[in-house]
Amino acid sequence: MSWREELGQAKRIVVKVGTSTLTYANGKVNLQRIENLVREMADLHNRGVEVLLVSSGAVGVGANRMGFKKIPRTMPGKQALAAIGQGALMHLYEKFFAEYDKTVAQVLLTRGDLDERLRYLNATNALLAILGMEVIPVINENDTVVVEELKFGDNDTLSAMVAGLVDANLLIILSDVDGLYDCDPRSNSQAALLSEVTEINDAMEDNSRTRGSSFASGGMLTKLKAARICMASGVPMVIANSGEKDVIRRVVDGDNLGTLFVPREEKMHARKKWIAFGTLTQGSVMIDNGAQQALLNRGKSLLPSGVVGVDGEFERGAVIAVCSADGREIARGMVNYSSEEIRLIAGKKSTEIEKILDGKDYDEVIHRNNLWVNG
Ligand code: GLU
Repeated sequence: MSWREELGQAKRIVVKVGTSTLTYANGKVNLQRIENLVREMADLHNRGVEVLLVSSGAVGVGANRMGFKKIPRTMPGKQALAAIGQGALMHLYEKFFAEYDKTVAQVLLTRGDLDERLRYLNATNALLAILGMEVIPVINENDTVVVEELKFGDNDTLSAMVAGLVDANLLIILSDVDGLYDCDPRSNSQAALLSEVTEINDAMEDNSRTRGSSFASGGMLTKLKAARICMASGVPMVIANSGEKDVIRRVVDGDNLGTLFVPREEKMHARKKWIAFGTLTQGSVMIDNGAQQALLNRGKSLLPSGVVGVDGEFERGAVIAVCSADGREIARGMVNYSSEEIRLIAGKKSTEIEKILDGKDYDEVIHRNNLWVNG
């Protein structure tokens, strides 16, 4: 069975809709589009598929409500509009989903909610409980209260994180573009739509640096970032044009629509997903070439002997970045030792740890079970 055909077996689907899908170019709400998408999602739900909706549009709808032609530049201005628009947006979803006898639940998340392992599990459990009640979660970033450093920043990333959080079988990102092209279709009429992508390369990212509409925050680059998360966490992802008739049903039925990002074969363990994408790193270690080979090619743990530098202050149990000698982040992992301890044992053999630290709980700085290698 091809990857496209397999999408029909998905039992849990995340659908992400962007501001450009929900509003017209003049900023006003596109009621017909929202209604069509809601009908499709309600129908999917009737088929017995669990549906989660990640919806942008709070700031855009808020701006429209207030008669603004542009989004204010200041943070409090945007936060106020998000508070105004989020309620209005939920009202629309409540109303349209109720027509099909569906109940929705508003879930507002920030990165901080996923940063600690326990909070990550709490968010997962809350979403699963909502799904268990046959209710459709409508998820957005909690724009009104989030501080800059704890922002997802765009809902493409948020939707990929949500898909990983609930172990979804498919993420559909609906946008105002048909999918990923081999070059920018706005400047090159020969551009060809890619139907399937198995690897994201630098050229794709370079071609995707332009932004969407003036009310939206994403663009193709954030969608590629989302695709990387999905591919690594084992979730197929499709980017398709929200203007296509019956777009959701057709993607799920395996039609050759949009671009499918094929996930890696093996499923990622839940704890590794959190290490890789859920939490923010609290410091880093630099490792030598030998250790780099052991991690990347042989799936080994990180031993103190391979560590050549430590950056930042962190406790045991923190998640940190592992960098190669040339400063590239090649892995992330949860440490068995604090930054202070690692500074003392860096470059030393595991057998020497006991003497240096006056006791030894672990041989490894990061055990391979707690290590996510970015490959
Ligand atoms: N959370 C933002 C909003 O609701 C949108 C972020 C995005 O467009 O990706 O307006």
